[in-house]
Amino acid sequence: MSLFLILLAAGDGNRLKSKTPKPYNNVNSKTILEYSLNTFGTFKEFKKIVIVFNKKHKKFLNKIKLKKNVLKIIGGRSRQESALKALKKIKKMNCEKVFIHDVARPNTSKNLIRKMIKILKKNHAVIPVLKPNDAIKITRNAHALRNLNKNDLRLVQTPQGFSYKKIYKKHIKNINNLFDDDSSLFVHDREKVTTVKGEKSNLKITTIDDLRTFESLKRTKTYYGLGFDIHKLIKGKKLYLGGIKISSLLGLKGHSDGDSVIHALIDSLLGACSLGDIGRLFSNKNKKYKNIRSTILLKKVIELIKSRNFSVNNIDINVIAEKPKMKKYRSKMIKLISTICEIKTGQINIKGKTTEKLGIIGKEKAIASEVITSVIKND
Ligand code: ZN
Repeated sequence: MSLFLILLAAGDGNRLKSKTPKPYNNVNSKTILEYSLNTFGTFKEFKKIVIVFNKKHKKFLNKIKLKKNVLKIIGGRSRQESALKALKKIKKMNCEKVFIHDVARPNTSKNLIRKMIKILKKNHAVIPVLKPNDAIKITRNAHALRNLNKNDLRLVQTPQGFSYKKIYKKHIKNINNLFDDDSSLFVHDREKVTTVKGEKSNLKITTIDDLRTFESLKRTKTYYGLGFDIHKLIKGKKLYLGGIKISSLLGLKGHSDGDSVIHALIDSLLGACSLGDIGRLFSNKNKKYKNIRSTILLKKVIELIKSRNFSVNNIDINVIAEKPKMKKYRSKMIKLISTICEIKTGQINIKGKTTEKLGIIGKEKAIASEVITSVIKND
């Protein structure tokens, strides 16, 4: 089945009273449009995704990095005209089935999409519906209400899935006949539309209240982790600290490059994400890690935590050493760590501490580091 997705994002959305058009509002550092792109994008079934955008919003759309299978076209004056323009665009692309989705619904679950793809394989039209919970009345004016039986009614959501040829023909036929959604064209022709149970969480963002509801659904959780590490200073080894090479007569002894700052940082990251510790991940019995640069291990840890939907929020580091003084190296270390951890330099802090010449650190026999890190879990 050759399946396409049309994402309708050409509306004005002025009911949000925001300077940024609705599809490009940021929630949790992602635009509303990106939520749909990411969710549908995880399905390899979608050969192409067509974004129908408003030409007035071009500069907002251009800021979003799109995958290769995503096309952009300018929308029409109405939702229906926009859908038709997209259907025309893919006419010669061998599309058998098509999903049409309002970008104003950024919270569609993968489960719903999966269910609908399965049904669409054997049907010409499938839509998600919900039974209303509230009592419903028809009104022409406040003095002339009429009752309706809510059990007979259904609220219709998107995405909606169709056989391409059928929905295309119906759109052409109804150019001057405007409907609220695409399944209305099937209903108008008295053709079968298969329904699946929709989701309350698949909410449509129309007003600022809806936007707030969506934000609260996407609110992130923050976690904290602590790391500590100490290495002996010996002659004849290079000194690596905070990922950079420092000229020194003494270096840190260790199976790897002995970089106690990066080791403590790795432990704090693993701690924050409940993923164990550095020794469990990179055993010092494994020859593979002999003399390895700790920055390579840090990169691996960042990949690991990203794969679990974590991202780094901030890092605070204490380097406890008599020498070297951090002043000279601080900004270079911060720059390097920020690149590897994919955060801004302002999210990292490094403090240099001595132990007032006391103990093994004071006698320049060892360097220790402690790090506290906070991470955000994105779902
Ligand atoms: Zn270490």
